[in-house]
Amino acid sequence: MATPASRSQPSPDFVLVIHGGAGVVPKDELTPEKEKAARATMDAALLAGHSVLSRGGKSVDAVIAAIKILEDSPLFNAGKGSVLTADGTVGMDASIMDGSTCQAGACADVKHVKNPIELARLVMNKTHHVLLAGDGAEILAKEHGLTLMPADYFITEHRKLQLQRIQKQEQERKAGEKKAQLNSADNIGTVGAVALDKHGNLAAGTSTGGMANKRFGRIGDSPVIGAGTYANNQTCAVSGTGHGEYFLRGVVAYDIAAKMEYQGVSLANAAEEVVMRKLKDAGGRGGVIALDAKGNVAMPFNSEGMYRGVIRADGKPWTAIRKE
Ligand code: ASP
Repeated sequence: MATPASRSQPSPDFVLVIHGGAGVVPKDELTPEKEKAARATMDAALLAGHSVLSRGGKSVDAVIAAIKILEDSPLFNAGKGSVLTADGTVGMDASIMDGSTCQAGACADVKHVKNPIELARLVMNKTHHVLLAGDGAEILAKEHGLTLMPADYFITEHRKLQLQRIQKQEQERKAGEKKAQLNSADNIGTVGAVALDKHGNLAAGTSTGGMANKRFGRIGDSPVIGAGTYANNQTCAVSGTGHGEYFLRGVVAYDIAAKMEYQGVSLANAAEEVVMRKLKDAGGRGGVIALDAKGNVAMPFNSEGMYRGVIRADGKPWTAIRKE
């Protein structure tokens, strides 16, 4: 059966694609209840974006509406439920890019902003900058009345246990007892969305708590335009998820767009080449969701799985977690 991604005749109307992180909880840990809850949240995010797009709203607004649902859910590594730093704190990164203007905004290492993707939009619309970090970013959020939450709001029991497990493995590795073996589920959950609206405009956004057990102050690819997020009506909109250091070095999101621009290749071929060959050969685990102005969708990932979903004008959410 054709999935929304493989339709040969994409609808010229509107499309929203989301991801909820690369890497998949092992089958024995992903209980049917957990899978159901994750899929229901992805459905809700797709429907929230769909309601913006079906009214003729902008792709930027649809991306933000979808991402906010995922940030508010404790199940994903963004907003509430973000992974923890080695010190047990939260530092969140987010970015948004408008493909119609190539304007962009991002925030990094914020600790109290309930919806970092809203702050990324503020940086884009209300400042002359692209990326604001730390206290300066939080002050901007406060000035514009964004909801701030105490640090505890973001921290879940699941993330505390995850940090303990990773740190124990790390100690064992240092003591030579065991090879470092990060559970494939340990950095899942970063969220992102790309959208094409009725006006033909693309947008992309990404939001994350980063990677579990990261050093305090570490910033990944998600708030870096060109690495974790990119959108340009002339080529495509991309949001990535995976090991951020590799996405930064490979400028992954922009690399896909550049291949389309300079080599004239299709979205599918550009995304495949960058994720399944360049990123993979470099040792970088992860995937992207990508969308072009004709409504073509590509969702390659070289990890075991990637939480992902698509909704088109018919309003029927499609979601998947593993390879299918
Ligand atoms: N790319 C994110 C980061 O490195 C993590 C992820 O996508 O899981 O911060």
